[in-house]
Amino acid sequence: MNNALRVLVVEDEIELAAVIISYFEREGYIVDSAVDGPSAVEKASAGKPDLVILDVMLPGFDGIEVCRQIRSFSDAYILMLTAREEEIDKIVGFAVGADDYVVKPFSPRELIARSKAILRRHRSPSLDASTEDRTDVIGFGEILLNSNSRTVFLGDRLVELTKTEFDLLKIMMEHPKNVFSRRTLLESVWGGEWFGEIHVVDVHVGHLRKKLSDAGGTDGLIRTIRGIGYGMDLG
Ligand code: CA
Repeated sequence: MNNALRVLVVEDEIELAAVIISYFEREGYIVDSAVDGPSAVEKASAGKPDLVILDVMLPGFDGIEVCRQIRSFSDAYILMLTAREEEIDKIVGFAVGADDYVVKPFSPRELIARSKAILRRHRSPSLDASTEDRTDVIGFGEILLNSNSRTVFLGDRLVELTKTEFDLLKIMMEHPKNVFSRRTLLESVWGGEWFGEIHVVDVHVGHLRKKLSDAGGTDGLIRTIRGIGYGMDLG
């Protein structure tokens, strides 16, 4: 297929990398690979991947730094592979811009399913191009969200969001009176093939809130409904 999606697999454990690569190839992806930080950044720049599978512990410099650098020039989805809790804390805490993570050991099947779910988000805007004209801008309080340009403004300030944060905000703004359970948000934003921890929603909502508040947003734009999930206008 000529419109095959490109995946860059960055993993220095050669055997694991080979397994991941063979699974992606079997699914029809065009796969490139790298085994250290510097070459990962180089290949992400040259190869324009749609998705980067990125291990955290790498020679050269680590996956966190690779993620940061890729984010400075690319919109590729980034799915990180982590081996330990501390690494998850880093990915989460430093808000490096990864879209998702998978904890080792994982099954290649799960990795592929998670990747497909991420990439489906990528393709959906162009699939419903015919509806672009009517669904472009939604407002909520001081927030203006443009689905075509995928930009969010708070007043006149541009708020830079990751794709996941944008998608979460969008679905909540489209249905401001709804209360969304974590599972509903997972299924809407990540697609139906969700295998991970439901806690990942809290992480992304946390980042989203921080960015809105750093841009001068009032507190409580996104509310927490104890024991259920999140919503916007619940007054
Ligand atoms: Ca490694």
